[in-house]
Amino acid sequence: MMNFDNTEIAFHDKNNRKLRKAYWLFRLVGSPGLVKTGSMLLKFALWLHLPVKWALKPTVFSHFCGGETIEECEPVIKQLGASGISTILDYSAEGKETEQDFDYTRDQIMATIDKAAVEKHIPYAVFKPTGMAKFDLLAKIQAGKPLSEEEKDSYERVKERFDRVCSYGVSKGVPVMIDSEESWIQDVADQLTEDMMFRYNGKAPMIFNTLQMYRHDRLSYLEEFISKAREKGIYAAFKLVRGAYMEKERERALKMGYPSPIYPDKDATDKAFDDATELCIRNLDIASVCVGTHNEKSCAGAAELMKELSIPAGHDHVSFAQLLGMSDHISYNLAEKGYQVCKYVPYGPVKTVVPYLIRRAEENTSVAGQTSRELFLLKKEIRRRRS
Ligand SMILES: Cc1cc2nc3c(=O)[nH]c(=O)nc-3n(C[C@H](O)[C@H](O)[C@H](O)COP(=O)(O)OP(=O)(O)OC[C@H]3O[C@@H](n4cnc5c(N)ncnc54)[C@H](O)[C@@H]3O)c2cc1C
Repeated sequence: MMNFDNTEIAFHDKNNRKLRKAYWLFRLVGSPGLVKTGSMLLKFALWLHLPVKWALKPTVFSHFCGGETIEECEPVIKQLGASGISTILDYSAEGKETEQDFDYTRDQIMATIDKAAVEKHIPYAVFKPTGMAKFDLLAKIQAGKPLSEEEKDSYERVKERFDRVCSYGVSKGVPVMIDSEESWIQDVADQLTEDMMFRYNGKAPMIFNTLQMYRHDRLSYLEEFISKAREKGIYAAFKLVRGAYMEKERERALKMGYPSPIYPDKDATDKAFDDATELCIRNLDIASVCVGTHNEKSCAGAAELMKELSIPAGHDHVSFAQLLGMSDHISYNLAEKGYQVCKYVPYGPVKTVVPYLIRRAEENTSVAGQTSRELFLLKKEIRRRRS
């Protein structure tokens, strides 16, 4: 089994100052009390319109984000590229509500496609459905409630935005990934995404849906989609993740009295994730998969299976993806062995990226073992350089 313990490879492009900064950052986010108070203070400061950029930009922002604009991400794209790691530019403004905001996001995603078309280290573009559509509108459609004329118009504009971005990606030869979100809007997001997949995946895997494998219905969804794709002669392209909204999903299901869509335990989620990865890898003639995880076992398992099936490490239809600033030991060690590896590189004005940063800090506090693993590896490398 592949291991990711080589910290010299993992941190080779970080100087001592950056290494120490990362170490202190993970020490801070490792403290639940501090993260809780810090998040509350930050939300309050934003609500009061107090300036927060001076404190965030040189610290958490610069660790987890590429910059405020695509141009500002340039050094990160180059640095990752030098280690054989690609970038996926992720425009991360969240909580937008107006048609102008959604049009602005659409234009940003198209700008990332323009950038990807001329930059060999950017293989995909990405967007979140709620970057293009109002959350409440998608929820209303999924709940089967009647729409007002204004809402019907609004939904037509959502479909137009999806098509504009996807067709633009196809015209520039840049595949587009569509993130997944809460289950009570995901059926509608799936429908929009599937329409794009059936329209644009005839010749190559251009449009990727995202499957959250903590959901107990996703493995059968994937099996059925692969059969349908074979029948219709299209490519089945998926980013696989475990899923980011577990607590919210469980709480809502409990509150509203329906069965939770999430597996009852982590082992079941892990098994579903690995089974889905295997299913895609065994169908690579028509499937393309991006293994989106910080889980060492899942990455090693996928790499092992490729070896077993004599699939070359750099096969076009398999990539691995981690978030910028997290699990570099996985990204850099996989890339060093010739696998296709990408980092999600979030960007956007500091203020609008705050919800993303808070989620990263909370995730590093709550995901068992994640922070201690990052700290252990950073400490190991600092010691190695001293000796
Ligand atoms: C490149 C990339 C893209 C991403 N895109 C998306 C996206 O579009 N949509 C999205 O929702 N998330 C997305 N994520 C986040 C992802 O879903 C996970 O939250 C995150 O990656 C942690 O899971 P893991 O596989 O990395 O690590 P692990 O630490 O192995 O797994 C943690 C995850 O396991 C699951 N889990 C934990 N405890 C339990 C339990 N008791 N029962 C059942 N399941 C459990 C949860 O999903 C939890 O997040 C993305 C992550 C990456 C790296």
